[in-house]
Order: sequence, then C-alpha cells, then structure tokens
Amino acid sequence: MRLVTFRRGRSQGRVGAIWHDAVMDLGAIARDLAAQRGAVGRGRGGFPRTMLELVEGGEDSRVRAQEAWEAGKRLVGAQGIEDLAGRRLAFPLAKVRLLAPIVPPRNVFCLGRNYADHAAERGAAVPEHPVYFTKPADCVIGPGEKVIHHAVTKELDYEVELTAVIGVGGRDIERGSALRHVFGYTIINDVTARDLQKRHGQWFKGKSLDTFCPMGPVLVTADEIPDPQGLAISLRVNGQARQSSHTSKMIFPVDQCIEVLSQGLTLRPGDVIATGTPDGVGAATGNFLKAGDRMEAEVERIGVLANRVVAP
Ligand code: MN
Repeated sequence: MRLVTFRRGRSQGRVGAIWHDAVMDLGAIARDLAAQRGAVGRGRGGFPRTMLELVEGGEDSRVRAQEAWEAGKRLVGAQGIEDLAGRRLAFPLAKVRLLAPIVPPRNVFCLGRNYADHAAERGAAVPEHPVYFTKPADCVIGPGEKVIHHAVTKELDYEVELTAVIGVGGRDIERGSALRHVFGYTIINDVTARDLQKRHGQWFKGKSLDTFCPMGPVLVTADEIPDPQGLAISLRVNGQARQSSHTSKMIFPVDQCIEVLSQGLTLRPGDVIATGTPDGVGAATGNFLKAGDRMEAEVERIGVLANRVVAP
C-alpha cells in the first residue's frame, strides 16, 4: 500500500492511500464496507483515525487498511472519481493536500555517516559502529511545505534519506528478524545548518531548527519493498542533480541499524529511523541552499519529496 495522510480544505488529516491519480479515504471506505455488511454501532467501522494509530493497531489495523485499499481500488476502477468524491470515498490527488505521512511519537532517530562516500566528502572516518542522533518530532513538515532559511545560519544544506517506520516494537531485536519490525518506508530530507553543526560540536542543534525535517510523500508498506538495500536514492536542487547513489552503499544496512539501536532500547510502533545520506551534500562544494531553491528528494519505489526554501 502507498499510504498517505491527507487533508481537504480545513479538515483534519485523514489516513488515505494512493492509487493512480486518486487518493482513497481508507476510513470512509472501511465505514462503507461495514455498512454494506450490515454492521451497526461501530461508527467509523473502527478504523484508526491517524497513521500512528494505524501502525500502533498492529496486524488487525493493517488487515483493515488492506481490505479498504482493495475495495477502494475496485471502486476507483469501476466508478468515476467525481462520483466517488461526491460520496467522499476518494478524491483526485491534485485536489488534496498531503501531510507528513506519520506524526512520530517521539524524536526522529537518525544515522550519521552511513555512506562511505559521504563520510569521505565530510573528511570523516568510516565508523565502526552505527552513529545515532535525533531530531525533534516538532520539526517534521509535509511534502510541499516550506523549509525556513533561518537567519541564524549561512550554511543551509539538504540530505536525502531512506527512512524506516517501525511497526512492531521491541528491544534486543536480532538482525535476522529486524525487517519484520518495519511497517514501511518513506523519505526524510535531513535539512542541516552546517555552521551550527560545527559551532555547537554536536549534531542536534544544527539539524533541529523548525521545518528541518520534511517527510513523505507516502509511506510504502514493507511488503512492497522487500529489500530496502536495493533502491536508487537522489536529490535535486532546482532540477539539478546533487546527490545520486544507491541504498546498497549503506555502511550499516537497515536491519543492522535496527538491531544495534534496539540493544537495550525499546523501539515503539511509529518510531521513525532515517538511515543516513549519500555523498553530494552542499557542504562538500560550498553550494549551500538559498531562499527560493526547490529541493526534490527521491527514493526508488517511494517517490519524490519536494520542498522549497523560503526566507525567514
Ligand atoms: Mn542525515
């Protein structure tokens, strides 16, 4: 499933799924299915209200979403989108606003220096163990939202990253079963103020300013990406290629990132793990971002996460 959180007009964010150029409202379709079966008194058909609730709901929620997704695909194939929109079951993609697919329940976990080419361009050694840091969940924004070029930095930079969302929590997860703990994958642009990163001697400050964590556009369920190390990953600024690599080049693959992070630390459903960026960041060339720049972060089988930089 290609899951999204979307909004129409001023409504609350809703859980949806994309099929061709349509966004299905999975909760509305689940309710419609329940009504057809004569179920009463279950309100929304018991469907989760948010993506985090869906993930936390485990296998039961995933099956309900899958049922709605299959029913939705049949509806979109059989009926006009105008008719479905009139019944509020599905909408043209162009008529909705996509939000970050999930609101992380706590800080976003991140990997630093997880591609050898990136470590080299930053003059850093290849780490022997995964290097972790976090970004506050508050700085997450959605596709199309604006990244603020805060006045405090003169060295604003981008970093495209494949990002895993944990489905089944746990502690001391073994590498061999780690991918079974992944609900799905999305993209994060780990926006970074390089001068602050240097000035404060630690990554948190320079990577945690408001709007510095664009996420999306979709959350692709793990069944559609059986091998997270088999994906092209790239980033463009104003259409010009800046990063172009492959997730096979990660030093610590996704399963190992999960294994080591979970040693003595309980991962929870909905936890978000950004797995590091390849080479080609602006800091390597001095080519930093400026107001007006449009970033497009792309990962194969997930999509393109586009965000524009604006003046404070
Ligand atoms: Mn990063």
